[in-house]
Amino acid sequence: MRILVTGGAGFIGSRYVRGLLADEYAGYEGAHVTVLDKLTYAGNRSSLPPDGPRLTFAEGDIRDRELLDRLLPGQDAVVHFAAESHVDRSLRNPSEFALTNVVGTQSLLDACLAHDVHPVVHVSTDEVYGSIDSGTWDENEPLLPNSPYAASKAGSDLMARAYWRTHGLDVRITRCSNNYGPYQHPEKLIPHFITQLLSDGTVPLYGDGGNRREWIHVDDHCRAVHLVLTGGVAGGVYNVGGGTELSNREMTERLLALCDADWDRVRNVPDRKGHDLRYALDDSKIRDELGFEPAVPFGPGLAAVVQWYRDNPLWWKGHDDDREP
Ligand code: NAD
Repeated sequence: MRILVTGGAGFIGSRYVRGLLADEYAGYEGAHVTVLDKLTYAGNRSSLPPDGPRLTFAEGDIRDRELLDRLLPGQDAVVHFAAESHVDRSLRNPSEFALTNVVGTQSLLDACLAHDVHPVVHVSTDEVYGSIDSGTWDENEPLLPNSPYAASKAGSDLMARAYWRTHGLDVRITRCSNNYGPYQHPEKLIPHFITQLLSDGTVPLYGDGGNRREWIHVDDHCRAVHLVLTGGVAGGVYNVGGGTELSNREMTERLLALCDADWDRVRNVPDRKGHDLRYALDDSKIRDELGFEPAVPFGPGLAAVVQWYRDNPLWWKGHDDDREP
């Protein structure tokens, strides 16, 4: 088996690649992995082992068709994680999001079609649905994204659908809730809070802290992606939820406790423009059809992540932390 993983130097993609190399995923034991990653500020080559008999790292852009034409022949599958992924950055620099997430995904799909490489798993997000005050979304909800990030992910999600409907390309789509885990860039909420609290800094809490998110461990998300790759159907869309819903204030409380810090380390800051209030998924489809169930319990999972950032300062201290405000 040969598999191409885009964005494999990022948070979730690198976890998936490390899992492939450790033969964690059924049907892909011994697989050769090619990673295509542009190594933007978010990509980190040190999140992966060095190149070897089972790993080839190609630094480059998913919009580079010549590079795709070199990398795709002979691949048996593609998992597409590459994206601009940070909502705050998308408010300041939306064009990068349109270029990578929409045009880049279209370029990748087009090359997969030309080289007859499939299945392709397109890794989308719950943010494409917008915001929901109560209840949950299933896969048939309309896409009503609110941030430029979410809009660009919705564009790429619909592009994936179009390549399936129009050309019959075997593309499957996952829409997952917020991930937590090791190797996440310190601009994102959980690692930002942990690294600030471990370095005697303060942490910003948007608005009244009442925004609610559903959390899943990155290990579980990667298992779900692999289940869709091996058991999903062409054109299928699969929500992946973690089942742990917390307000940002509740998350802050947990992180303060795990980092032995008090509320005096928290700064209340004005809310993010257009901040979605709540995301919540109905993921009964992937549970019923593919037997998915999250395996990492939230409390111990979060404690282990804090411990990982304590143990690996060299990994995160080199990052440029551009979190606002
Ligand atoms: P990340 O920002 O940590 O990693 C993205 C990776 O893509 C980086 O290594 C970056 O260098 C690479 N990249 C960016 N632009 C590229 C380009 N033009 N060509 C090639 N590589 C490029 O993101 P992440 O958190 O690991 O998210 C991975 C995917 O999962 C994204 O598609 C994201 O939308 C989706 N997702 C993330 C979450 C989450 O909570 N983090 C939840 C649901 C879905």
